[in-house]
Amino acid sequence: MNFSEFDCSDALKNQLNAMEKSRRMPHAVLVTGGSESTRRELSTLLSSWAVCVSEGEKPCMECSGCRKSVSKNHVDIYYAKGTGKTDGIAVEEIRRITKDTALSPNEAPRKVYVLFDADKRMGKESMNAFLKTLEEPSQDILFILTAENIKAVPETILSRCATLTLESHFEASEDIREAVEEIVKGLTASSELMLLKALAALSSRQQALDILTLLRLVLVDALSLSVGSRALSEEQLSSPLAQKFTKSKIIRLIDVTSDAINKINRNVSLVLISTWLCGEYRRITWQM
Ligand SMILES: [Zn+2]
Repeated sequence: MNFSEFDCSDALKNQLNAMEKSRRMPHAVLVTGGSESTRRELSTLLSSWAVCVSEGEKPCMECSGCRKSVSKNHVDIYYAKGTGKTDGIAVEEIRRITKDTALSPNEAPRKVYVLFDADKRMGKESMNAFLKTLEEPSQDILFILTAENIKAVPETILSRCATLTLESHFEASEDIREAVEEIVKGLTASSELMLLKALAALSSRQQALDILTLLRLVLVDALSLSVGSRALSEEQLSSPLAQKFTKSKIIRLIDVTSDAINKINRNVSLVLISTWLCGEYRRITWQM
């Protein structure tokens, strides 16, 4: 996967492609927004980009540099280890990193230092020590920081990093969550009435969009569970679906939910959409 194939907003994609086309790499990037797993995914992509030895578009994901980066055993990529229960990155480790930046890379065009969860793992002292390193950058270095809470990163560090923002998780209100819970019950119940009643919550366009967006996330998680991997965020809501339905049924439920979202965006009447959706859900879930 290269930057163009990475699943992110158009704005971020343009930023990444511009970086790649100009071949001008910042000394430090801060990856924020999204989920922990997408932040780590983008970090790996960026490390691969820095150590890629392909002549063409980078990261190629095929050369020895990219492969070692993905399997996390590239000699020129260092992951801050942290210590203790909180896995905190101590000042001593930052000082070791600073010393190491003076040494040339072993095989890659540049060295990479990855500091995951800098907002949680770096205290004031470590941040100050790190700032000194950032102020005197060496040509062959890329620092990659990830942070859920960008506000916990000092302004002085932020101003020296290129910030890459992933789209944040969909934040549903308690009402929306309850409505989705009812629909999940309706989908897994044997009576049609429960599903019909639950779908009555699609009462305004915004409400319907929020409900179906969360429901789709729940269904995608149910799909992950049904193929034996982990649910990303909605385990509680998604596990009854994963237990009750086969993988192919869940895929069809996701498709129908996506269709309904498209219909709402095309201004089809909500009554028509609810009736249609109820029929489609029933057809999928009750079929043998
Ligand atoms: Zn490569």
